[in-house]
Amino acid sequence: MSDRLVIDDIDYLITCDSQNRVLRDSAIAIEAGKIVEIGRSGTVTGTERVSARGRIITPGLINTHTHLAMTLLRGWAEGVDLDGFLKKVWAAEGAIMDEATCKLGTELGAVEAILSGTTTTLDMYLHPHATHQGAVRVGLRHIAGPIFFDFPGLDSLEWSDRIAFARSWPKRLAEIGGPWIPTYLMPHSTYTDSPEHLREVSDLARELGAAIHLHISETIAENLDVQGRYQKSPVEVLEFAGILDRHTIYGHGVHLSESDIETTAKYNGAVAHCPGSNMKLGSGLADIGAYIDAGVNVGLGTDGCSSSNDLDMWQTMRMAAHLISIKRSPAHVDASSIFRLATIDGAKALGISDQVGSVETGKFADFIAIDLAKPHLTPIHDIFALLVFAVGRGDVTDVWVDGEQVVRDAKPTKVDAVEIMTQANKRVRSLDLLKESF
Ligand SMILES: [Zn+2]
Repeated sequence: MSDRLVIDDIDYLITCDSQNRVLRDSAIAIEAGKIVEIGRSGTVTGTERVSARGRIITPGLINTHTHLAMTLLRGWAEGVDLDGFLKKVWAAEGAIMDEATCKLGTELGAVEAILSGTTTTLDMYLHPHATHQGAVRVGLRHIAGPIFFDFPGLDSLEWSDRIAFARSWPKRLAEIGGPWIPTYLMPHSTYTDSPEHLREVSDLARELGAAIHLHISETIAENLDVQGRYQKSPVEVLEFAGILDRHTIYGHGVHLSESDIETTAKYNGAVAHCPGSNMKLGSGLADIGAYIDAGVNVGLGTDGCSSSNDLDMWQTMRMAAHLISIKRSPAHVDASSIFRLATIDGAKALGISDQVGSVETGKFADFIAIDLAKPHLTPIHDIFALLVFAVGRGDVTDVWVDGEQVVRDAKPTKVDAVEIMTQANKRVRSLDLLKESF
């Protein structure tokens, strides 16, 4: 028998499958990175056995919009809206974000992500080959991709260099290895990428079989800017440029008109809802209930740590739920639906729900364990209400990605977190001078 790990004695197994089953006293077997069997405690055999008594096992959380390397700029741009934020952040990025720093910041972000129970991230950032190397070293399922701006930008790439880099992306991914990820292309937004350039990206995406991720309608000012330039909303620009012909997920999508929502649903598009960042920057409150009702796929995201300050998907779930209470009513909040936004619906929003997002046989073994023996998790009347409104990242004890245990007893298994934190603190010291100029 090849290596077959059994996680046994699971108190609560939250499957997030199509029937949303919660199994008591169960066991999971994993082999070659995949879930191969789910059964009653004590009935599943394997070559190694781990007990999960007193634990909840759930699918790993899926963060559908972030910029992991921006952990290095946590707290750098406070008290500003998106415009003020971009000014401050772009200056700091210009000062330090070379390839090695992007890799280091992503390692820090990836460690923070896995320790909090996040197993998959959609991460848009400069030097994606470097960020991907860092995240893979930590053990995260890290969806990176080539980024596109009309102008050379902080990575100094001309447009033709960007296209050439994107063509080489599948080969680079294969060289780096790590957990499987889909191919993504990531033009930054419709205010930094012209419709002509977006058309080239959509053609390239078709050639590479890639999906697309970009920022859309984060603020009203952005909508007005794009409308003024092209007499179209950002979503209309996407449709015009052929982007929506590929699987597309919008970062933020706060200010979508009824017709934008209809168009997005028609193309089976998705929104990465980032309530923490949207509220902190005063960007607005996305009405995700309306998006979901219209058939838009919605996942949850934290955004980067320079705007939302952490990568905590538990807080993100809570904010998403509270926003629905405020926008609609508490009766519209169903905790299990909120938990699904952070797991299986996030996977759907990324176009990879056949691979991750639920604990089911045949899927990648990406799941997490939560310690129930805590005062704030006692008693249990409603397991999903517990997960959404009471569990926090400090309750996550163990994390598996691709069948590999990347967190054990709340510590990363593949990297030295203290070493990464030391390097990060050292690297940002050079920002002190710049800080004085603001
Ligand atoms: Zn963003």
